[in-house]
Amino acid sequence: MKLKISRREFMKISGAAAAGLMLSNIADTNNNHTPVAHAKGAVNYAGRQIPLLYEADICVVGGGPAGVAAAYTAGKKGASAVIIEKGITLGGLQTMGNVIPCMTTWAPDSDTDYVREVKKRLGQYGIAYDDHNEKSEVGIWTNPEVMSLIYDELCQEAKVEILYNTTLVDTIMKDDSISVCIVQTIAGLMAVKAKTFIDCSGDAILARSAKIPCECGFEKTGKNQPMSFRFEMGGIDIDRVYQYVTLELGDDFCPTKPPHYEFAEARHRTKQYILEQFMVDGIKSGELTEADAEYMQAFTIVGKPGHVSMNCPELPLEFSASDPLTYSRGVRAGRQMIHRLSQYFIKHMPGFENAYLAKEASMLGARESWRIKGKFYMTEDDYHNQSRFPDAVARTAWFIDAHGEKVSEKLPKGAYYEIPYRALITNEVPNLIVAGRCISASFILQASMRIQLTCMSIGEAAGIAAAWGIKNRIPANSIRWEEIPENLRSYVSR
Ligand SMILES: Cc1cc2nc3c(=O)[nH]c(=O)nc-3n(C[C@H](O)[C@H](O)[C@H](O)COP(=O)(O)OP(=O)(O)OC[C@H]3O[C@@H](n4cnc5c(N)ncnc54)[C@H](O)[C@@H]3O)c2cc1C
Repeated sequence: MKLKISRREFMKISGAAAAGLMLSNIADTNNNHTPVAHAKGAVNYAGRQIPLLYEADICVVGGGPAGVAAAYTAGKKGASAVIIEKGITLGGLQTMGNVIPCMTTWAPDSDTDYVREVKKRLGQYGIAYDDHNEKSEVGIWTNPEVMSLIYDELCQEAKVEILYNTTLVDTIMKDDSISVCIVQTIAGLMAVKAKTFIDCSGDAILARSAKIPCECGFEKTGKNQPMSFRFEMGGIDIDRVYQYVTLELGDDFCPTKPPHYEFAEARHRTKQYILEQFMVDGIKSGELTEADAEYMQAFTIVGKPGHVSMNCPELPLEFSASDPLTYSRGVRAGRQMIHRLSQYFIKHMPGFENAYLAKEASMLGARESWRIKGKFYMTEDDYHNQSRFPDAVARTAWFIDAHGEKVSEKLPKGAYYEIPYRALITNEVPNLIVAGRCISASFILQASMRIQLTCMSIGEAAGIAAAWGIKNRIPANSIRWEEIPENLRSYVSR
């Protein structure tokens, strides 16, 4: 394997880092100018002295399903870890984006230790996590407030420091490696230093700031997957909805019964949904637009009787997950769509007579934006060929669900493909690992691997590899996952 940095060099660097010398531009540790009591010195950034807020073995950017898994696992393996999170809750799209259902991977025995731990904790909070219905596409029915609490608890137990309301804005490189993250905090710009960095931002923001080559959108159209602005409604008589949709209309879309219940409609799919007519009636009456009716899906929220999480509206493609201007305009347009949709349901859907708009997501639902081009690039062929890898970190079989572009057939029962560690690392930066929905994969393959349980397992593996690499003084992008002792790995390819 061709290394850009030798092991000896890495040992020298990490040894120096331990001695506090990794950054030649870290100033006097008794800097009196910092307003933050626990700041540990300063870093020279763009001609300014920026207070050094935190130092850890591992810095995880983004506290979504992948990021929490990475930091928690690294912490449990004995490394010190810090999460940089721009929101004030962990969970990313799962909590802030209201993506409450974790879809099943469809792959047999895909649960890794971390996934089992999350499921166990949900059970302890009374959130039934598995209804054992083989036909159900939902693996775990979650609840955003409970998930946030569980993630805080997990981090506390693994001694992971969480920096909330803290946004990565830039990195300082030392040779080829990342040495410092520059972050916007409540106290202004500050620095976070680590030996290994894990990008779990979903948007590969850390990788991009370290100049890693990335792809964005579908290679054929240049467009990202459509975003959705999810919202929650309360005050619903769920049993009455079930009675109307499933029993009276005869919609067999949802194989389970309340409290685990969903209903849906998607006009761009070949499948004709029973509820399509309900939505089309709204277009005809002028209460809904074509875009409002394009895609509609609702999931009950366990632990919140009378509430559903709406996986809609789906924003038209003119609003892009990778363009700051149209992204922002999409928020405004989406909010208007939410109000039209909620009013329409209250007026016309049996069971919604006393319903109300309970909350809108605090994070726009970007399914796909930037993806790194790493040492291994996964493609659609890996899905269809059910690829196996010696350095596999997870297995999944969720179908390709690229809204508006491609929806694949499911793989046969029991079939799956694997995700190699090499899709998490780059040729360019030795101390960077990428986990979650922005790993090295084509637009179409990403539309399968992006589900939350798979992102968690990938994050878990990133945490194991990062801690292992630091302990054994191996740069993250030189680690051979298959050489980590089996009992320390979260997943072993068989
Ligand atoms: C509308 C929609 C519906 C979906 N439905 C399902 C579903 O039903 N089931 C399922 O399993 N999956 C579903 N998914 C997919 C799944 O939610 C995501 O792919 C998954 O959450 C990705 O996890 P992640 O940790 O990689 O990233 P994310 O969940 O996107 O988390 C990234 C985190 O990084 C933080 N961050 C980003 N930039 C910065 C920065 N500069 N500084 C600090 N922090 C930063 C964010 O705040 C966030 O917390 C859906 C996705 C969308 C958008």
